[in-house]
Amino acid sequence: MSNGDLAAGETARRIVGLHEAYVLGTYRRMGPVLVEGRGTEVWDTGGRRYLDFGGGIAVNALGHAHPAVVAAIREQAGRLMHISNLYYSEPQGLLAKRLVGLVGAGKVFFCNSGAEANEAQFKLARRFGSATGRFEILTCLNSFHGRTLAGIAATGQERFREGFGPVTPGFRHVPFNDLGAIERAIGPETVGVLVEGIQGEGGIHLASSDFLLGLRRLCDDRGLLLLWDGVQCGMFRSGRFQSYQRLLEGVAGGDAFLPDAIAMAKGLGAGFPIGAMWVAERHAGLLGPGSHGCTFGGSPLACAVALAVLDTVEKERLMDNARRQGERATAALRELASRHPAVVAEVRGLGCIIGIELRVEAAPRIEALMAAGLLTVPSGKHVIRLLAPLDVSDGEMDEAIGILGAVLGRAAKEG
Ligand code: PLP
Repeated sequence: MSNGDLAAGETARRIVGLHEAYVLGTYRRMGPVLVEGRGTEVWDTGGRRYLDFGGGIAVNALGHAHPAVVAAIREQAGRLMHISNLYYSEPQGLLAKRLVGLVGAGKVFFCNSGAEANEAQFKLARRFGSATGRFEILTCLNSFHGRTLAGIAATGQERFREGFGPVTPGFRHVPFNDLGAIERAIGPETVGVLVEGIQGEGGIHLASSDFLLGLRRLCDDRGLLLLWDGVQCGMFRSGRFQSYQRLLEGVAGGDAFLPDAIAMAKGLGAGFPIGAMWVAERHAGLLGPGSHGCTFGGSPLACAVALAVLDTVEKERLMDNARRQGERATAALRELASRHPAVVAEVRGLGCIIGIELRVEAAPRIEALMAAGLLTVPSGKHVIRLLAPLDVSDGEMDEAIGILGAVLGRAAKEG
């Protein structure tokens, strides 16, 4: 071992030690201590390079240290960073206009995270139902909607609620992609239905077009709000701005589909924290002055960064790249699955959100991928999730598929 390796090992141990001593242990962290990133690549304390297909869990839409993001932060931070929502700022107004242009007529509330964006949807729904005594929101089994008390109540996975009772009332869970189950579950107190277009934490499951169109009809017929969680699968990750636009492409009636509200976060700031809730025009009056707020929400800095991200994605047509890379990756991974059917059960996804469902536990394979230089994240117990940046190159995608082939091939040999 060289002196450099020894020093790098010492640095990594010191940093891990700081975490163990002082950071609350709510996360199960993985090996490397990362110090620098550029595009799809990151480096650890020892100078070891990794391809980052974890993307900060669907956040780093433009990879690391993208010049447009860095420039926007520098420029806006030097001018006006934060003013609170007592005052007006141009970046917030411009970003709201931009999001309305991407979705449809409506208005936008700004916050900092996905959980907060969903909380805003919950409050919108409760306001909507308050005159008629309705407050209950139906969500899907296997869904994930954030870690706040209402977020874990909304999330369709029991393990996130364990030990945090009493559970916030007003949420009930029904099977995903099962319109009949939703129809049967609607009660006198039901006010809305919340869905993800692609379940990100629940194993990368895609909503069917029949389910989505049926849900819109059902919500209209029964006077319910259709709430959309686009936190993970939104922001062009699927190849369109919101995943319903991609999932309903070419489907009769698909163009007219529009939720009543949409939660956004993660890729909106491509690493700079920002969340948002878009609300359809007809419901935009529900939350008036004093009804909701967020100190940091929609700061000039966060909004300037999000505008730079949108400019870059649109100028460089990165939604097309995400779509093309997704098609290349899923084709290659399905071929890999056909070679190793004992290990790979299925490959699902759209654009730069792809799940490889294994017949074995994902965690040891994710460790092996990391050791081979590829960072990925689990989605549930059996799925390896790939969340490459929207600007991932052909060469980087090929390299990642090569590493996946080698690691999963080895897993197949080991039986
Ligand atoms: N909704 C979905 C679909 C998510 O995937 C997440 C986070 O993974 C959240 C909400 C919560 O977002 P945040 O961690 O920014 O609060």
